[in-house]
Amino acid sequence: MAATTDKVNLLGLTQSDLEHFFAGLEEKPYRARQIMRWIYQSGVIDFDDMTDLSKMLRTRLNEVAEIRAPVEEARHNSVDGTIKWLFSSGSGQAVETVFIPEPARGTLCISSQVGCALDCAFCATGAQGFNRNLTAAEIIGQVWHAIRELPRRPNGDPAVTNVVFMGMGEPLANYRNVVPVLEILLSDLSYGLSRRRVTVSTSGIVPHIEKLGDDCNVSLAVSLHAANDKLRNELVPINKLHPIDELLDSCWRYAGKHSNRFITFEYVMLRGVNDQLRHADELVRLLKDKPAKVNLIPFNPFDGNNFERSSVETIRQFQNRLRENDIIATTRKTRGDDIDAACGQLAGKVSDRVRVRLSEKNIKVITA
Ligand code: SAH
Ligand code: SF4
Repeated sequence: MAATTDKVNLLGLTQSDLEHFFAGLEEKPYRARQIMRWIYQSGVIDFDDMTDLSKMLRTRLNEVAEIRAPVEEARHNSVDGTIKWLFSSGSGQAVETVFIPEPARGTLCISSQVGCALDCAFCATGAQGFNRNLTAAEIIGQVWHAIRELPRRPNGDPAVTNVVFMGMGEPLANYRNVVPVLEILLSDLSYGLSRRRVTVSTSGIVPHIEKLGDDCNVSLAVSLHAANDKLRNELVPINKLHPIDELLDSCWRYAGKHSNRFITFEYVMLRGVNDQLRHADELVRLLKDKPAKVNLIPFNPFDGNNFERSSVETIRQFQNRLRENDIIATTRKTRGDDIDAACGQLAGKVSDRVRVRLSEKNIKVITA
C-alpha cells in the first residue's frame, strides 16, 4: 500500500459509514450515495473529477479524505485467459487475486488475509503462515482494481460478475472486515451483485457461519475435504475445534435461513488419502437429502508438499458414486496453473509470520 496518511480512506466504507463521515462534515446523507457511485460504478478516485459535488466540498474532501486502492505489484496472464495480480500489502508482503473468465461469467477470486493461520495440510497459503488481516479497503480494492482494468463484457456489464473468497486467507477469521465488503459488493450503489454471485468459502469457523447467516447470507462454500473426523483433523486442523457434526449442523441452519439455498462442499482430491469409493460413501451418508452440492477439486501441487493429485479416472468414479446417490457433484476445472493461480497455489509473499497454533484459547485471536 502507499504510505499511510491521516486522511480517511473512503474505499471500503459502507453506505452507513459514509453517511456518518459526511455528517461529520455537516453534509447531507445523499453525499454517501453520490460518492459510492463515483468510486465503484465510475471507478473515479480523484475528488476533483466528481462533477456533482460542489467545489467547496471537493476542496474539503481533498483535505480530510482519500480513496486509496491497493498497489499492483505484478500481473500475470495465463494462456487460458486467467489473470493473476499481486498486490503489495506493505513491509514486502503481497496478496494475490485471480480472474477466471468463462463464456457465461467472470469470476474474481479474492484474498482476505496475508497468509493464513489455519494450516490445512495441502494448502500453499497455509504453509506460508499468517501475517495479518487485510482491511476492508484492501479486500474491496482487489475487486475495484480488476473491474477498472478489465474490458466490459459484450453486454456492457463489468467483467466481474461473480466474487469468491477463495484466494489467500480464511475470510471468516477476518469477519469484521469481510462483512462490510460483502455489504458493498451487494449494494446497488456499487456493483449490485446478487447473493447468489458472492461466495464466502470457509474451512469451518462455526460461530462465524452462524453470524454470517444473520448478517449477510451470501452463498456459502465449506471446505470439507474429509467425511470423518479422524481424517479431517489431519487435513483441516480447525476440525479439532469444530468437528464435522457441529459444522454440518451450522450449515443446515445457514441454508434454512434463506429458503434452503444449497451449500457447496469443497473436496480436494488427494491420491490415496481421501479419494476412495468408501470415502465417497461416507460423504453420501453425511449429505444425502440435505441442501448440499459437492465440488471436487483436483489437488494442485506446490513446492515442499508431498500430496499428489488423484487420477482423472479416480475423480470420475468418485463423482459418479455421489451422483448415483442423488448428490449434485461437479469437478472444478483447473485454471491458470501455468501462472500458479490455481486453487491452493496462492502464496503471495508472506514474511514476518506470526506462528499461531490452533487451540481453544488462541482461536479467539485468530478469529477476532
Ligand atoms: N480459507 C478458505 C478459502 C480459501 S482456500 C477455505 O479454506 O475454504 C479456497 C479452496 O481451495 C478451499 O476449498 C481450499 O481447501 C482449497 N485448496 C487449498 N489448497 C489447495 C490445493 N493445493 N489444491 C486444491 N485446492 C486447494
Ligand atoms: Fe487457510 Fe483455507 Fe488454506 Fe486452510 S485451505 S490454510 S483455511 S487458506
